Amino acid sequence: MSPKKSEHVRLFIPGPVEVRDEILDAQAEWMIGHRSKAFAELYARMQGKLKQTFFTENPVYVYTSSGSGIWESASRCAVRDDAKILHLTCGAFSERWAETSRLNGKNIDIAAVEWGQAVKPEQLADALKSAQYDAVACVMNETSTGVRNPVEAYAEILKDYPDTLFLVDVVSIYAGAKVDTDAWGIDVCLTSTQKAFALPPGMAFGAVSPAVLERAKQVKNRGYYFDVLVLDKYYQRNNTPSTPPISLMYAADVQLDTMLAEGLEARFERHQRMAAMTHAWVEQAGFEMFSEEGYHSPTVSAVDNTREIDVAALNAFLAERGMTISNGYGKLKGKSFRIAHMGDIQPADLETLFAAIDEFLAKEA
Ligand SMILES: *Cc1c(COP(=O)(O)O)cnc(C)c1O
Repeated sequence: MSPKKSEHVRLFIPGPVEVRDEILDAQAEWMIGHRSKAFAELYARMQGKLKQTFFTENPVYVYTSSGSGIWESASRCAVRDDAKILHLTCGAFSERWAETSRLNGKNIDIAAVEWGQAVKPEQLADALKSAQYDAVACVMNETSTGVRNPVEAYAEILKDYPDTLFLVDVVSIYAGAKVDTDAWGIDVCLTSTQKAFALPPGMAFGAVSPAVLERAKQVKNRGYYFDVLVLDKYYQRNNTPSTPPISLMYAADVQLDTMLAEGLEARFERHQRMAAMTHAWVEQAGFEMFSEEGYHSPTVSAVDNTREIDVAALNAFLAERGMTISNGYGKLKGKSFRIAHMGDIQPADLETLFAAIDEFLAKEA
């Protein structure tokens, strides 16, 4: 008998996502001390797999926080007191990261677009011509609007600015599409566990370049918990400065194995296929995509509620069938709704979801 206490509701929301039974079970392993040899082995074993999935040779630090913690870490350590950081914003998460930099006392500039649009490379090029920046921060996959930004084009532009560090939030796309960290020259590449990684929430990973460590040495107030220099010191011994979420690391270790066994290319292709299925359903059901054409996310679709359905009523209907989707984020509530197709969700799961939504729409019509 399952020890789980509640009914299973299948999550089609963009975080936390559906987590497989096997992964939940992996967390039930006995505790080990984090200064033990067994822990160092676990840490080292994960490093190899993390580097493979991040397409990097850089260390991948383990943070005991959700992804937002690495925003603090990156903004604080990569930007000197008298320098500036440029934020490319296009939705709730990219805007919140800019706010996080500001609250850490950093001088910020913002290049923004309307929600639903992608930030174009030309905007970055223009901003870089008008001022000098210690870092550029962007969100590859803006979860609030379902936009996948052209990060590889930003990378091309930034090649001409070797002193400007490139900070990229890949929270809702890592493991759902290729994030070519080293080829794109990403200096901080950050993700958390509860999105396309398909783990429970509570841990985050940051691939950090040597240039960030050099920059950090020139920043006075880096704090302790999120200081990359402290994290690196412990990384060198396959360890973490403070007590890590060991149970979650067990789960991540198993999940990395299953991701590599599926094959990264196959995994990315499955996400593309699920995105295409969703686009086709959106059109057939008489809705439109909220995200700009050409920039739809492979992991989460934001649907423009052109039929003006009652999203809360739809979710109540789905709940009776053991499923849930996400309403629009913040100011988009009711105006859009979001369907996540990330992590371990399979095309067949989406078919079940679409059939249920179609049933709801037929009833409403
Ligand atoms: C969910 C999300 C975050 C916030 O991550 P937490 O792990 O909740 O702190 C940041 N960026 C993006 C793009 C997200 O989708």
